[in-house]
Amino acid sequence: MRYAVELRDVKKRFGKVTALKGVALKVLEGEVFGLIGPNGAGKTTTLRIIATLVRHDEGYVNVLGYELPKNRKKVRKLISYLPEEASLYHRLTGWENLLYFAMVYAGSKQEAHRLAEEGARIASLSSDVLGRRAGEYSKGMARRIAVARTLMTRSKLVILDEPTSGLDVFSAVHIREMIRDFAKNMKTTIIISSHNMLEVQYLCDRVALIHEGRIIATDSPSNLVKYTNTTNLEEAFIKLVGDYSE
Ligand code: ATP
Repeated sequence: MRYAVELRDVKKRFGKVTALKGVALKVLEGEVFGLIGPNGAGKTTTLRIIATLVRHDEGYVNVLGYELPKNRKKVRKLISYLPEEASLYHRLTGWENLLYFAMVYAGSKQEAHRLAEEGARIASLSSDVLGRRAGEYSKGMARRIAVARTLMTRSKLVILDEPTSGLDVFSAVHIREMIRDFAKNMKTTIIISSHNMLEVQYLCDRVALIHEGRIIATDSPSNLVKYTNTTNLEEAFIKLVGDYSE
């Protein structure tokens, strides 16, 4: 079995705060993997370690066959990361934003155009909208471009930190559909963090529940619901956190 990502007993402190107390994760190649947990549980820290942006203090981290932190430059070329606070260049149009990011990844102008066109297809915004400055976009439109620019690069691993946070229900559904369609057609491994259990249930093959810097369960959403004897992932999570705290 090949793992796209493997973490063993990973610990991380920020001053006096221990963000991760021993995280263990195995993400399979090609799966959509969800990391769910409450505020401050350690989701972003875990994703930033995998994305090579934060160094862990202790433990083992392997991404796409390369151990971190020593192979971070190699890993950076293979992954694509969307931070929760990702924004667009407001003075550029939606299309120019896609093209700008495409140029970072592409080897030629032609290739950049091809990638940006793929981004425009993934975002499924009209050419009229793509021609407007990003500063005029609604939050939902801007997020569609941000998610599309992360997916269009054809990276081996895509990491999306809370891709629908702060969006209204229609915009959130649109983003979920974009991710789901992409995952269905590509063989990319995708890791998504979320507070939203419905979203995770809809999108993910497997999920890990993170609580106070530790993973307390990993399985498919349906198995987690089954073995906690609950009716949905939200109830399963509450039950598992309760069991864990007792
Ligand atoms: P949220 O859902 O609110 O985004 P999270 O699960 O992503 O939360 P993290 O952002 O990983 O959680 O934070 C885990 C803990 O580490 C929190 O207590 C947070 O305050 C702390 N922390 C994270 N980054 C830093 C930092 N750069 N400096 C100090 N403390 C930090």
